[in-house]
Amino acid sequence: MRLGTSVVLLYHRIGPVRLSSHVAGQYVSPRVFGWGIDGLRRKSWRGVSLAECIEIGRGGEPDGGAGFAITFDDGYLSVYEHACPMLRERDMTATVYVVVDTLGGINEWDRRVGDQEEKMMSAAQARELAENGFEIGSHTLTHPHLTALDDEQLAREIADSKHKLEDLIGREVASFSYPYGDFDCRVLNAAIAAGYGNAVSTRLGAVIQGTSLFEIPRVNVRWNGFGWQLRRKIRRAMKASGLVK
Ligand SMILES: [Zn+2]
Repeated sequence: MRLGTSVVLLYHRIGPVRLSSHVAGQYVSPRVFGWGIDGLRRKSWRGVSLAECIEIGRGGEPDGGAGFAITFDDGYLSVYEHACPMLRERDMTATVYVVVDTLGGINEWDRRVGDQEEKMMSAAQARELAENGFEIGSHTLTHPHLTALDDEQLAREIADSKHKLEDLIGREVASFSYPYGDFDCRVLNAAIAAGYGNAVSTRLGAVIQGTSLFEIPRVNVRWNGFGWQLRRKIRRAMKASGLVK
């Protein structure tokens, strides 16, 4: 570990692994989730907000130690039910990226390709989280592959989701997450034009001085994401960003 190291962890679903799912590895049980974050804290990593994590990594806080931020993509009900209470018990926060038009519904984008149905958190639950120190970010309206959209559809998914979500939760939405980690120059510029302050990708890496605010790398945490497996993955992220050999 070195000073100013920071990583952004990416989680999806919290709950027992459902082997019938196309993305079975994306289920992290509440127990593994707890072991993961408690293990890092025992190794002197500090759980911080996404904004703080970016600050530490990009050098704004050189004595900030090692920080990790927690992010959840999609906005599953299981995150609201299991992970958020565990974070609150530990006085920690997270950023939850919701698919705005599916709030209170199901994961329609997965269902369309035949995957398991999952419940999404409701708008009221997202608002409650926002009122309790969690950050709510946008993960578009419908979870499309953004690079495949025309300019008008792109603006709708990126800008309209921001405004709609701001109306729902009653506060500014400053962060965006690219569905499937799918973005190019045009998509990135659309996120900047929509007024977001940053955007997260699915590329593996740590946040370092030169990290672009609209290409924040993350560490995808899967079913076995605790203890040495999690630390090994973080080390891989640091290596990908040139922090360790
Ligand atoms: Zn997603």
